[in-house]
Amino acid sequence: MSNGAIVGTTQIVDHGPASKRWNIVIMGDGYQAAQLGQFATDVDRIVATLFATAPFDSLRQAINVFRVDVSSADSGAADPVACGGTGANPRTFFGARFCGDGQIQRLLVVEDRIALATAQQQVPQFHLAMVIVNSTIYGGSGGAVSVFSLARGAEEIALHELGHSAFNLADEYQYWAGCGVDAPGTHDRHPPEEPQQPNVTIDPDRGRIKWASLVQAATPMPTTVNPNCGTCDPQPSPVPPGVVGAFEGAHYHHCGAFRPAFNCRMRGLGFPYCGVCQAIIRATLLPFMPN
Ligand SMILES: [Zn+2]
Repeated sequence: MSNGAIVGTTQIVDHGPASKRWNIVIMGDGYQAAQLGQFATDVDRIVATLFATAPFDSLRQAINVFRVDVSSADSGAADPVACGGTGANPRTFFGARFCGDGQIQRLLVVEDRIALATAQQQVPQFHLAMVIVNSTIYGGSGGAVSVFSLARGAEEIALHELGHSAFNLADEYQYWAGCGVDAPGTHDRHPPEEPQQPNVTIDPDRGRIKWASLVQAATPMPTTVNPNCGTCDPQPSPVPPGVVGAFEGAHYHHCGAFRPAFNCRMRGLGFPYCGVCQAIIRATLLPFMPN
């Protein structure tokens, strides 16, 4: 018996021809045929959230959105016992499962190959593929596809994950599994290689830093230094919210890597994208705005 079927595609936001706009495809996994009405509601909610979020709020004319209805044989997502889950293993079209690395339950993944092929088949000119997973367990991931569940705050997970999927933004947080959760010594110092993503760096020099044009002369550089590389830096921000500088502790390490702002959606859910992340998103979408 199959794991499900593609039911059809509906364009729900139309701001012009797909050849000239930035096209988002939103698919669902673990929704049975009778739950596709709920899926449509879930999609509408994430689109409303996206268009209310800076900088997308001022770039909405650049964006088209397509909803791809996909039915799964069973409801939900796999939840392996290895990560403390129930052991549920439903048959779903995109194979959604928590515990994607075998260690961390919140790492919710799908079969990227199937998701990308489906998006490509339904909307050949897509730029971002998202999969909403019909589960209330907290989780998400952002590789080639942005994946997130229906847990409270799922929209926030989506906004964080699409930063990875569509804009090559790095995680700005300074741990892997969590502060005090990672094995001692495993995330103290960032390797001495410069990350290729635009929103983290190993070089906080005012003149050389990747986001130099966004740093004001009065902002100390680096803006914070972690006094104890054995732990996450507990100090509060010395500057007002939103100030762009160089804050030590980023890209999964306590020291040796810097993030552009004290807080950012790429550091923690519930915060706005920082000035650097907003600038990257804006630069990517501006070519798709109508003249
Ligand atoms: Zn950021």
